[in-house]
Amino acid sequence: MAYQPIPKDIANLRWPPNLVDYATVRSQFDWAAAGRLLAGLPNGGGLNIAHEAVDRHASSPRASRVALRWLGKNGERRDITYCDLAGETNRFANALRGLGIGAGGRVFVLLGRVPELYIAVLGALKAKCVAAPLFSAFGPEPIATRLAIGDGEVLVTTEALYRRKVEGIRERLLALRHVILIDDGPPVAGTRRWRDVMIAASDHFTIPPTDPEDMALLHFTSGTTGRPKGAIHVHQAVVTHYVTGLYALDLHDDDIFWCTADPGWVTGTSYGIIAPLTHGVTNLVVEAEFDAPTWYGILANERVTVWYTAPTAIRMMMKLGAAAVRGYDLGALRFMASVGEPLNPEAVVWSEDAFGRPFHDNWWQTETGGIMIANYLALPVKPGSMGLPLPGIEAAIVERQPDGSVSVVDRPMVEGELALKAGWPSMMRGYLHEDERYRKCFAGPWYLTGDLAKRDGDGYFWFVGRADDVIKSSGHLIGPFEVESALLEHPAVAEAGVIGKPDPMAGEIVKAFVALNPGYAASQALRRDLLGHARKRLGAVVAPKEIAFRDNLPKTRSGKIMRRLLRARELGLPEGDLSTLESDER
Ligand code: AMP
Repeated sequence: MAYQPIPKDIANLRWPPNLVDYATVRSQFDWAAAGRLLAGLPNGGGLNIAHEAVDRHASSPRASRVALRWLGKNGERRDITYCDLAGETNRFANALRGLGIGAGGRVFVLLGRVPELYIAVLGALKAKCVAAPLFSAFGPEPIATRLAIGDGEVLVTTEALYRRKVEGIRERLLALRHVILIDDGPPVAGTRRWRDVMIAASDHFTIPPTDPEDMALLHFTSGTTGRPKGAIHVHQAVVTHYVTGLYALDLHDDDIFWCTADPGWVTGTSYGIIAPLTHGVTNLVVEAEFDAPTWYGILANERVTVWYTAPTAIRMMMKLGAAAVRGYDLGALRFMASVGEPLNPEAVVWSEDAFGRPFHDNWWQTETGGIMIANYLALPVKPGSMGLPLPGIEAAIVERQPDGSVSVVDRPMVEGELALKAGWPSMMRGYLHEDERYRKCFAGPWYLTGDLAKRDGDGYFWFVGRADDVIKSSGHLIGPFEVESALLEHPAVAEAGVIGKPDPMAGEIVKAFVALNPGYAASQALRRDLLGHARKRLGAVVAPKEIAFRDNLPKTRSGKIMRRLLRARELGLPEGDLSTLESDER
């Protein structure tokens, strides 16, 4: 049966969509004018994300509105108004000053979704420090690597996370001056307690003049090779956060917004903190991990109006069936969006059945800092498509040429690399300490995304896959090199090659192939030991789920493991060009 979307009856919507005439808005859009939608610091002091997200509301009639509504995993509930949030973030900014952390100081946060995370990130931005949130599910290795690359000076975490994941790596972290534990308890050597630093600090703070180009956020992402990359974002990025909140998420003044992503991932910062707060709405923060009935209960009880989530969660909901949704009153919910991985067309069709409205897929990545391509409330959704470029964004399908330049592919539905014309406010300004890697992302005016896609005759973009070897598992971008390095630390492992293996729920799972050192034999016990080793080092999110033993791994003549070949063989796909294959014993 052909898919029949539910017609969008825009005229009868209580909140008219912010973007109706896409073509006109697009043709008239300019980023400088969009920047004027924000307040700016008083007296021409520049632009600071925390001022736009917190202080300007705290000094307006919105002051007493709930900014963060936190639902703790043990049933706790805490409302923080814009006024309260201004005071708490002021305290943290003063606390950083008191600790001797100046402008540009790197403040890392290793926490679950708890209020202190939000206060620390926004407080750091007020103090003109650079905020870098990490996934609390990371193991010690990814934490150590990122803190070292980012020159982390302050780490905000819990005592349990500190003891399990940081104490053992601390001596490697030469820049790390202060560790702040958010929970109360007896002293722990080399750390301070949140309560102590906060009590000593004033809740008055004036954000110093901030250049829109000052570095604000550091988000780590992964490539095919080498260490993780720290993508640099500046205060100016808030213009994209605001505009995408307006057009792609259709935020309105009295929305109750829920972004389910963790701030350890760029989505959880750009849309779990900044975009909703710049719009002055109530931002729901849910500490617990995914559980379908709990989520439906939250959507209903909290009267969520706009919901931003991810395909893995949607697929898990689909497994339980549409009937499971029907017992909940979701009358308040008016817009649903999804990001991070391909959203299967069936998921869009299913959501119309289950929720009476479609998930609107959108596309972006750590480097772009904000949504670039989206399905919009007022426009037809094509299930399986990522949608149309945001006003202000020029996207194209390009083909790389041998001389390093690219040519734009004009014909519809021809596969090529997705490229964006550089110049929007939240574009990364560099990879920290990695100028060469940053430069390689560009060809002339085009930023090359590393994704393969197609564009149809109506201008909608369709995701095809990655052009490189990075893995997307349950929405997490995982660099195979980081996993291979951890496996190689095990005495039994001589060679390791890591691929993404398609999985109906997670999109992909991490699968490792290893060749063993002399004296070691493949066995179930060794496999368990390797899985345990990887999980301990990397954390469950990054560690492989499957390990296969091989006598030898396919390599190029220069000794590089051919992950593509491992993947092709695993999936029974054509092996492609083997001219560079050097050694290979299956
Ligand atoms: P990250 O930088 O971790 O946010 O990952 C960005 C990558 O996730 C993109 O380059 C894509 O490969 C993938 N991705 C993000 N959104 C989508 C989407 N809507 N459809 C397909 N892939 C996506």
